[in-house]
Amino acid sequence: MNTEHVGARQEASENLPLVVAVDLGGTQIRTAVAHGAKLLSRVSLLTGDNPTPERIMPRLFQAVRQALDQAGTSLDQIAGIGISAPGPLNNRTGIVYVPPNLPGWKNVPVQDIFSEQFHVPIFVENDANAAGLGEYMFGAGRGSRDMVYLTISTGIGGGVITDGRIVEGVSGTAAELGHMTVDWHGERCNCGNIGCLERIASGTAIARRANETIARGEGKDLLAFALAHQGHEAEAKEEQRATHTPDVPIRVTARTVAQAAEAGILLAQDIIATAAEAIGVGLVNIIHIFNPEMIILGGGLTHMGALLLEPALRIVQDRTMQVPREAVRIVLAQLGPNVGLVGAGALICYNKEQQKIEHVIRKSEQSGEHGSE
Ligand SMILES: [Zn+2]
Repeated sequence: MNTEHVGARQEASENLPLVVAVDLGGTQIRTAVAHGAKLLSRVSLLTGDNPTPERIMPRLFQAVRQALDQAGTSLDQIAGIGISAPGPLNNRTGIVYVPPNLPGWKNVPVQDIFSEQFHVPIFVENDANAAGLGEYMFGAGRGSRDMVYLTISTGIGGGVITDGRIVEGVSGTAAELGHMTVDWHGERCNCGNIGCLERIASGTAIARRANETIARGEGKDLLAFALAHQGHEAEAKEEQRATHTPDVPIRVTARTVAQAAEAGILLAQDIIATAAEAIGVGLVNIIHIFNPEMIILGGGLTHMGALLLEPALRIVQDRTMQVPREAVRIVLAQLGPNVGLVGAGALICYNKEQQKIEHVIRKSEQSGEHGSE
């Protein structure tokens, strides 16, 4: 990194406001006081088995106050609270509809509930968009204007930024990149569609395919490898919860499949290759539809590295139209596990900037009307 770059970043970060970030996850809720990509404090709580809003909200408010205390600051020094929540949600009203991983939640007016407690600007955005925004403003996407963030983890999600704006769609559900069809004769996905990218290439999908094959009595090598390399029981339980498939005994996680593939076990290599191909096809679609200057790949599965990414990138090279292919850079995310919090905090700067832009557009439209009179 050259010194000029560092200087420019430091200058920019001096102008950044202090914000509170909240990352509402299915198993954990995290709060922080953030300054750009820097977290000055962090307080987490487990959602527990019965995370109804009535039970969670008071604990969450307490966590926010604790985070402020730990950072040695107070609410009056905070520019706003950004909340990253599981979709579907309406980012204009701040209502979270029915997130599948937060049982007991239905049409919860998160923004209004926070506004009663904290008298600062409050913004709510779905987790994938917020993460994309975090990478865009403070991570690998800095300096770009047209960017796609694709996170490959237990699920697959995305955030699309076009000309500096998050693509929301008319109901705020745009950029469900994990639910693009990559195999129209494929299996039914939880979302209702058939052959979704997520259904084939997510960590959950990789683990499911491995375990279903083993349950059919095939894949003895993989099972033997998994039994010899156990120690991910907690992780396996988590995956089982996420997939709602208690009927399939989960023995093998996506990570174990990756390790088995590295060790030369054919079934594991085949499963990872299928996932990698689907990701490659997904990337081709993304490039053809959005013509982005950058695609940022995040999420736990990217830690598989070349095993997953090389076949995917080969498909991109082989199948993408030349002009958008030569324009795009495909890079790894930079914010790691903090992406949710940094993205939630980024909502404050982003929304203030958008409001300013809208204000200027409205003014110029008004003066345009006067001019034509
Ligand atoms: Zn789907």
